[in-house]
Amino acid sequence: MRNSFLPFALPDIGANEYAHIQESLESGWITTGPKARQFETLFADSVNAKHAIAVNSCTAAMHLALEAIDLQEGDEVITTPYTFAATAEVVRYFNAKPVLVDIQPHDFNIDPTLIEEAITPKTKAIIPVHIAGLPADLDTITSIAANYNLAIIEDAAHAFPTKYKERMIGAPLMDESIPHAVCFSFYATKTLATGEGGMLCTNQDNIAERCRIMALHGISKDAWKRYSAEGSWYYEIVAPGYKYNMTDIAAGMGLAQLAKAERMRQRRHEIAATYNSAFQQTTALQIPCGAENMVGNCVYCDEDCQHQPHQHAWHLYMLRLNLDELVIDRAQLIEELKTQNIGTSVHFIPLHLHPYYRDLYGYTPQDFPIAYREFQRELSLPIYSKMSDQDVQDVISAVMDLIQQFSKPQPSTKNRAKVIAI
Ligand SMILES: *Cc1c(COP(=O)(O)O)cnc(C)c1O
Repeated sequence: MRNSFLPFALPDIGANEYAHIQESLESGWITTGPKARQFETLFADSVNAKHAIAVNSCTAAMHLALEAIDLQEGDEVITTPYTFAATAEVVRYFNAKPVLVDIQPHDFNIDPTLIEEAITPKTKAIIPVHIAGLPADLDTITSIAANYNLAIIEDAAHAFPTKYKERMIGAPLMDESIPHAVCFSFYATKTLATGEGGMLCTNQDNIAERCRIMALHGISKDAWKRYSAEGSWYYEIVAPGYKYNMTDIAAGMGLAQLAKAERMRQRRHEIAATYNSAFQQTTALQIPCGAENMVGNCVYCDEDCQHQPHQHAWHLYMLRLNLDELVIDRAQLIEELKTQNIGTSVHFIPLHLHPYYRDLYGYTPQDFPIAYREFQRELSLPIYSKMSDQDVQDVISAVMDLIQQFSKPQPSTKNRAKVIAI
């Protein structure tokens, strides 16, 4: 057993992060300034977006995006129960209704075949969540949005750097007439970490301009420059905006992280491949979708599996337990792993199980049966670039030993034959 605790998540911070932050501190420009602008430019380039607006969280980015598409009280926004609090709370900020649609069992993403029946005349937008860093079915979602005149706001908190087919998440949709924004998170545990932070990407000038103004008190463009040499004391308030700007301290860290984002992704991909080949050895475990990218054919998707061409960001490694083969449940396994010094987590407790949404809309667990069922057997394992090969092996040994220890005794072929004969 390991003698030190392996945290579930850790940021990968090196000398460049320190250098950028020191530069900001020494220059005296510690809030939004040149580094935030440079981070926006380089991030936009990296995902092929026309505009990137740096903010202080993904939650802020989604709030701004919904404001920019003019979401109103009583409107409806379609998303999934299988997500973090932020995705639905931003809809509630407007007194609008998050309308939940169940997930696909194979990859935890929104089931596009259930979207149309959830659309009403009040529906204004769809928020697909690219869970774990594997993209939702954007082609289908885009054609539904085009047919019903809906906006698409992508919750890409897990999806950097992710590709949907050949297209980076962050780039425009195939149909550019659909109001569209993509929101990324740079929270401490995410694939690009600035402590707190987020980015809103869009190719649409009107959405970008509105978000830029509303992210900084609703004051006219480039207000951040007013204390620089080229700035002016004059500004105008055009709307009651928010305080969502990213500091240069965070942006400097973002610049350092962006430069190594691909190396970090490759390391996570390598860890996922190592996990997959180990966990495939037992029927008590189901490895995550996206596995077909690395270890031959997808082991459980049907033959129409469309995931082959996507690039998985591997923000999360969402393992599933086949509970009928085990004598312990997920919560007990988490406790056992903790005693083995392995930190794990669960993604996510579906929104409809939480008191706020349950009581507000009268949900029962079975209202979204797939989300409910998959949640009970999901276990997220550590996957981050700072993990050593030994860390990865420690996770594998702890999981495999416990699975063996707590597997139900399987009747031998001989005994099974006897049972059938009787
Ligand atoms: C982390 C996360 C968010 C929120 O990101 P913040 O930057 O912390 O606001 C939103 N959606 C999902 C799915 C997340 O995991």
